[in-house]
Amino acid sequence: MTAPPDQDAACRAGRHVPGGRIVVDQHGTRHAHCRHCGCALSRLQSIRRWYRSGQLG
Ligand SMILES: [Zn+2]
Repeated sequence: MTAPPDQDAACRAGRHVPGGRIVVDQHGTRHAHCRHCGCALSRLQSIRRWYRSGQLG
């Protein structure tokens, strides 16, 4: 399965697509991995936006 080039550009721009399992911790923060580039993502309940955790290389 090959992702379209524009998704690659979107990832570089910080617009990732969470895929697979989404884990919700005790604080209501959601954790997932980008289905395209595989980076770690988090989403605060109050922000309603995914951002890159940046703890994995
Ligand atoms: Zn990504």
